Amino acid sequence: MPELPEVEALSAYLTEHLVGREIGRIHPVAINVLKTYDPPVTALQGRTVDAVGRRGKFLVISAGDLHLVVHLARAGWLRWQQKLPATPPRPGKGPLALRVQLADDPATGFDLTEAGTQKRLAVYCVTDPEQVPGIARLGPDPLDPAFTAAELHQLLAGEKRQLKGVLRDQSVLAGIGNAYSDEILHAARMSPFKLAARLSEAETATLHAAIGDTLRDAVERSRGLAAGELKAEKKTGLRVHGRTGQPCPVCGDTIREVSFADSSLQYCPTCQTGGKPLADRRLSKLLK
Ligand SMILES: [Zn+2]
Repeated sequence: MPELPEVEALSAYLTEHLVGREIGRIHPVAINVLKTYDPPVTALQGRTVDAVGRRGKFLVISAGDLHLVVHLARAGWLRWQQKLPATPPRPGKGPLALRVQLADDPATGFDLTEAGTQKRLAVYCVTDPEQVPGIARLGPDPLDPAFTAAELHQLLAGEKRQLKGVLRDQSVLAGIGNAYSDEILHAARMSPFKLAARLSEAETATLHAAIGDTLRDAVERSRGLAAGELKAEKKTGLRVHGRTGQPCPVCGDTIREVSFADSSLQYCPTCQTGGKPLADRRLSKLLK
């Protein structure tokens, strides 16, 4: 799933390739990805893109007072294309959900695709990005220079949930998902199950630094990469997420996993939990 660093990189890539270009034909192939209908997405046809940006994990392509907002969700992706066929795409079983062609070069544009059956890719055409519910409820952006350790301390005060869940909550912090929350907690040497409200001021400062360093490093690695190369880059840059059974790059201990119904988290016991493996709730539930 693309998170803040990948969407930031996509946004930078599209800023370079799309800003100043006129949008030609727009083909909604899988109608169910469109979450708004007024104005219709085709209202963007004939408009010139003047900015591309990111809000949390949302990509915002702006053309005057209209904005195409994309949430790639778990299996969605954006592919920049330079050899688009002349014939319009047909609805079918393929991954293509929406195609945008450039007016002066219809072979160039981008495809929004979604692999698998989850169907969570969401596209909005709005006159203000704040009209997208997921954007309206976003918490502060962790890469905003104005986001300080003191602000994080305030966000976590009275927070009864565990750090893993809090970091992924878009209304607390915008843009962090399952992968980077694992990476941040590993960098901060904290248990994913630690209660957020229990963090001391010093621990909050450590967590704040880990959030900034982890995300900035990932953005830096992704910068300048073409849209198609981002997924592979994300995988190679991760230290614990998705690396169950492999050695921790910091201490060499074996990276462990806790599974949930629809996701899993990875962590290093030596770095994060005093050497103690966390209980795998799904597994212990099955064993009972
Ligand atoms: Zn370790």
